[in-house]
Amino acid sequence: MRDAILERIRNTFHLRYGRGIVEQSGGAGALFNGDFSSNTTAGVEFAGSRLGLGVMDGLNGEVVSVKGTTWRIPESGVPVEVSPSEGIAFGIAAHGGREHQVAIPAGCNMSGILSAIDAYLAENHVDHEDVVCAVEIVGSFSYVLLRTEAAPTFPEETLAQVLEHEIRFEFDEWRGTLVGFRFPDESDGQTIPGLHFHAISADQDSGGHVHEVVATDVLATIWVDELHPVHC
Ligand SMILES: [Zn+2]
Repeated sequence: MRDAILERIRNTFHLRYGRGIVEQSGGAGALFNGDFSSNTTAGVEFAGSRLGLGVMDGLNGEVVSVKGTTWRIPESGVPVEVSPSEGIAFGIAAHGGREHQVAIPAGCNMSGILSAIDAYLAENHVDHEDVVCAVEIVGSFSYVLLRTEAAPTFPEETLAQVLEHEIRFEFDEWRGTLVGFRFPDESDGQTIPGLHFHAISADQDSGGHVHEVVATDVLATIWVDELHPVHC
């Protein structure tokens, strides 16, 4: 009886939330340990996806993907479109599901955005520890701090060592799109916990991994997804 009730709740949940799918290529563990070799191509990972992020083969720039168009952010900070045959060392892509609009008040920084997403999930009886959310935030920001990185300078350099000489880009007024994921805080070492965004500006002149933002006037959409790790 109890199982039947639980099954009905689960089915209702799936219908109500129309969960999409998140595919992750490569494990975060290998990336953190300095394995930056490609395990798939940008085309395989991001074609047909709604949004995604990652890093290039050989750590040749941060990757951001919106509606199937993918860019890498080289040392110059100016995004370059990636062809489908180029290799990526790590990628996470979101496919479909039902859209939910989340209000992000002006003045929210990364932790404010995280709180708004978690509050929305809690109101809707979803626990962020059990799901992965794909997130897109489009609009204007009064502050953005982005980064990319150059390829490793010596063999077996770890990601932490590479990021000691990361390249930062800071903007006071910025318009564009943040895409990424709210992963559960508990990680098995293969996922990147918490909120993780990559960005591309509306003029496609800037982008990268997002360290910090302050939102001014934005539209935020989330998809409640199931994680399907591949190639881990
Ligand atoms: Zn990143």
